[in-house]
Amino acid sequence: MTRTGAAGSYGELLDLARGHAVEWLTGMPERPIPAGATIAEVHDALGRALPDGPQDPREVVARLVEAVEPALLASQSPRFFGWVIGGTYPVSLAADWLVGAWDQNAAMRTTMPGTAAVEELAATWLLDALGLPAGAAVGFVTGATMANFVGLGAGRDRLLARAGWDAARLGLSGGPRVRWIAGAERHASVDIAARYLGLGEAELVGADDQGRIDVAALAGALDESPTIVCLQAGNLHSGGFDDMAAAITLAHEAGAWVHVDGAFGLWAAASPTLARLTWGYALADSWATDAHKTLNTPYDCGLAIVADPAAARASFGASASYLPAAESGRDPHEYVPEMSRRARGVPVWAVLATLGRSGLAALVDGLHDAAVALATQLGALPGVEVLNDVVYTQVCIALADDDATTALAARIRDDGVAYAFASRWRGRAVVRFSVSNWATDEGAVDATVDAVRRALP
Ligand SMILES: *Cc1c(COP(=O)(O)O)cnc(C)c1O
Repeated sequence: MTRTGAAGSYGELLDLARGHAVEWLTGMPERPIPAGATIAEVHDALGRALPDGPQDPREVVARLVEAVEPALLASQSPRFFGWVIGGTYPVSLAADWLVGAWDQNAAMRTTMPGTAAVEELAATWLLDALGLPAGAAVGFVTGATMANFVGLGAGRDRLLARAGWDAARLGLSGGPRVRWIAGAERHASVDIAARYLGLGEAELVGADDQGRIDVAALAGALDESPTIVCLQAGNLHSGGFDDMAAAITLAHEAGAWVHVDGAFGLWAAASPTLARLTWGYALADSWATDAHKTLNTPYDCGLAIVADPAAARASFGASASYLPAAESGRDPHEYVPEMSRRARGVPVWAVLATLGRSGLAALVDGLHDAAVALATQLGALPGVEVLNDVVYTQVCIALADDDATTALAARIRDDGVAYAFASRWRGRAVVRFSVSNWATDEGAVDATVDAVRRALP
């Protein structure tokens, strides 16, 4: 066999993969949602030993599908509410396949202009649709965790620079301390991002009954020292939004950098009926969101947005003699932690190009409508209490007794038709429903309510 002989043909292998993919996707609405096989079973089915020599790649694809599919979680089901993770639009998946086939390194715009051009349009359209400053830097990162990292990192370095400390040159030790303040119900990913950045633990201020930051307490915590304030657009349990206008004004008066974690909540700004939730948020300094959640693109696609591109570039920009720097200051790698990466902005463009402004609003409104319908019908079931104000896409329910609530989540899952997770919120066991999938329609809501009814004690 020649060196390349075992590689197989693109056409044949992609046709094989396409057949299996379409089968997986079209079977989704009927499929039981929980994974039906274990890791050990998948290891056995794949074969545990590294093969001694080349294998037929057609057989490798076939084995992969056969071994793995039984162990997949049907998280693209319209009745999957386990996390805010969404599904994939057909067009975003199609675009993603092309991204894989094109295999461009999206780090540099002059040498690979095709995908860079698509991502630039996607970025411009996003800022427009979300009502964010047109000149902001948009970085395509793996997810909101890294988008939080970018926002907090740009803020850290800008605040240190203002205090006369060049972190890029001097590092952090010996420099002024940067405080960071967040609400008690911030998402864990901002803590991780802060840890990567050497910022340590957050100074927490309280949250109200919907998990929103207590603005008066925030006011009391602020002083003139270098400070990052991290706000939240979309609480995981309630869907609640911090009072952006009030919190940002206060924080800016104290000279703080304001970052908004809006992994799924930022998209409310694209809906004329829900945009009031984000009112004032465009005044922040940085924002994090996910296309792989609300926008229903495949993983992995987060968006790191920084109002002043120079701040993002000061923290993440790099140059090297072998990189073509023809248009320095505008290469995509200068706004994100990664250098080489896939052109993950292309599926974002494809969804926006397909939906248009009104379609994007309808997507977000549809998720909210489904959450309201779910809350209304679940709340009418005997013994079920809806604990949150359903302002967005999240619904938290509970039974009178914590153990019964936890058992309810397990029974819903075992039933296979719908999927939601047990959690704890405000001192109580809850079952949390996150409506994030474009395909969740009235039928899916009705079937989910039936499933919960069946699972009641
Ligand atoms: C999902 C989520 C994150 C983390 O996003 P990843 O894409 O998993 O990195 C951060 N904040 C909130 C509010 C989230 O819902």
